[in-house]
Amino acid sequence: MAFKKLKIITAGVLVLMSVHVSAQDLLAKQAPIDRKLKAVDSVALVRQIKAEQSAYPAYDLYPSWENEYVHGYADVAIPDTFRINLVNFCMPTDHTQITDVFGYRPRRRRMHYGLDVKVYIGDTIRAAFSGKVRIVKYERRGYGRYIVIRHENGLETVYGHLSKQLVSENQFVEAGEAIGLGGNTGRSTGSHLHFETRFLGQAINPALLFDFEKQDIVADTYLFRKGYNRYDRKSRYSNSRQMASSENGDVRYYKVRKGDSLSKIAHSVGISIAQLCKLNHISKGKTLRPGQVLRCS
Ligand SMILES: [Zn+2]
Repeated sequence: MAFKKLKIITAGVLVLMSVHVSAQDLLAKQAPIDRKLKAVDSVALVRQIKAEQSAYPAYDLYPSWENEYVHGYADVAIPDTFRINLVNFCMPTDHTQITDVFGYRPRRRRMHYGLDVKVYIGDTIRAAFSGKVRIVKYERRGYGRYIVIRHENGLETVYGHLSKQLVSENQFVEAGEAIGLGGNTGRSTGSHLHFETRFLGQAINPALLFDFEKQDIVADTYLFRKGYNRYDRKSRYSNSRQMASSENGDVRYYKVRKGDSLSKIAHSVGISIAQLCKLNHISKGKTLRPGQVLRCS
């Protein structure tokens, strides 16, 4: 049976060869077909890889995709530097007034990881870049109604205190797409947008990326440097209290201003004068000079 089939095929090929083309022509034609088949295979493979990657933006950087935790990146290795492309941006709001800056809040004794921008209840809040919505949740004592989006450039942006969320988790959004409405939910006094920019969970002072007053990005790219993304003395939105703090709050610093005393500083950062002296290896009678940086934790 098999032999018979082979005979028929051979006969067929012979007819084809004799009628239409020579054997060499046939071989020549066969080669591109093989290449084409291989090309189709790799196209399919690339398509499959892309489909897997498009499961979430910045697939190469982030180990996972989940909808629970805003900052669930404890085990992620942070690169020393990473250049973040900001070009295809949209300002989250057209309001320009900054009501609170990024940095340590001595009165609350905690970090403020975002920038507060004055908005009114019902104002449209837009996605800063295109990306995929990771979290749409409500936190009564914190962010209120908030949204977290992960972007292709590696950033995650957080939008807090919204009155309404207009997107759902796992939804893809374009830069500039309306994602929510301004509000005063959660721990907030007065309607405003709490806006955070994070890279692998590391908070970056949004004023280093976005200039709300000019309604523009600060530069086309931002060079993330491990441990150096908090604070820029040149920026008017930098922390006016001149405090910097590490992510975990393990080391904080205070830059001495004219008129500061050890007791005043100790009080404002919430530690005793003795602790402050011990941390900085100084005596209680030490004269402070403006610009001097003291360790506070
Ligand atoms: Zn805030």
